[in-house]
Amino acid sequence: MTDDRLRMTPGPTEVPVDVRERMAEPTPNPDVEPEFFAFYRALTEKLEAVYGDDDVVVLGGEGILGLEAAVASLVESGDRVLCISNGLYGEGFADFVRMSGGDAVVCESPWREPLDLAAIESHLEDGAYDVATMVHCETPTGVLNDLEPVLDLCDGHDVITVVDAVSSLGGTPVPTDRIDVTLGASQKCFSAPPGLTVCSISDRAWEKIESFETESLYTDLEPWRDAAADEWFPYTHLSSNLYGLDAATDLLLEEGLERVFERHEEAATRCRERAADLGLSLYPDGAQSSPTVTALEIPGRAVAVQQRLADHHDIVLATGLGDLAEDVLRVGHMGHNARIDRVDRTMDALATVLEEDE
Ligand SMILES: *Cc1c(COP(=O)(O)O)cnc(C)c1O
Repeated sequence: MTDDRLRMTPGPTEVPVDVRERMAEPTPNPDVEPEFFAFYRALTEKLEAVYGDDDVVVLGGEGILGLEAAVASLVESGDRVLCISNGLYGEGFADFVRMSGGDAVVCESPWREPLDLAAIESHLEDGAYDVATMVHCETPTGVLNDLEPVLDLCDGHDVITVVDAVSSLGGTPVPTDRIDVTLGASQKCFSAPPGLTVCSISDRAWEKIESFETESLYTDLEPWRDAAADEWFPYTHLSSNLYGLDAATDLLLEEGLERVFERHEEAATRCRERAADLGLSLYPDGAQSSPTVTALEIPGRAVAVQQRLADHHDIVLATGLGDLAEDVLRVGHMGHNARIDRVDRTMDALATVLEEDE
């Protein structure tokens, strides 16, 4: 089944037919069929090729589960956590830290600007931090953060790093080998349906996770460390979603990550050229725009334009979130949607809508 709607949102992204067909396979009993564990192990090996060299685990739950689980498993009462933020998801980490009884210190910079390295450095020098959290692509603003210099600073202070790479992983390079816990999800650049969180976890992070008694079940990463080897999942796994992610990962690896990253760059460049032709500015100002999503300023009209695109052109876009809802329109060119023909169809329609509006 297909429809004519073009869903160019920055996640969930359009799910290709191959992936949807795999999800229609017969449903196994993941707890009692050993073949299913062999399948899960093979899937995590493929995902390790996408994530870099760390251990990968896949949890049954949407991307937010990964963010909460990483914090709940690494932060206990009294731990000091530096939450590095220039956006909504960056700020959100502080809430998870407080829920775990940790002491969250937020190092903030304005949403349109890059992370503030000098402020991060002085925080790290002033206080003994156990963990630092940060976001690679702030999807609500279309900002891609340069993580290398931040990771250098964290390295120098022996701080465990947690990175939300949900909307960049599989669309642009992520320095996963330098990160302790990298978080991704099925519904962004993988172009599988929402439902799974993928985390890669370093040995040092596993040690910390195993060093304390966690009072949680669903958000505890520890039982996942040996799940594949011990053939025991903490709960019934989401088999159809895992089949879908397997097909989606095959598509990524068959195309080749280098080519996939190039395709995202090409789609982003086209989107921004077309936006410039329409006289539209990018929301990020000083910060880099992500190859996976473009946030455009359409002051006061973003919701109306979004509605017209859906009603008259069958194209679904996202607006900004919170205070930015009326002023920012977001085009996702992410995963399967990172294609010039899709960007062109979107921007042709946007041109028409903006012209009608004048
Ligand atoms: C999509 C996304 C998540 C997962 O949350 P949603 O509920 O899907 O919004 C987490 N972090 C980032 C940066 C995301 O883009």
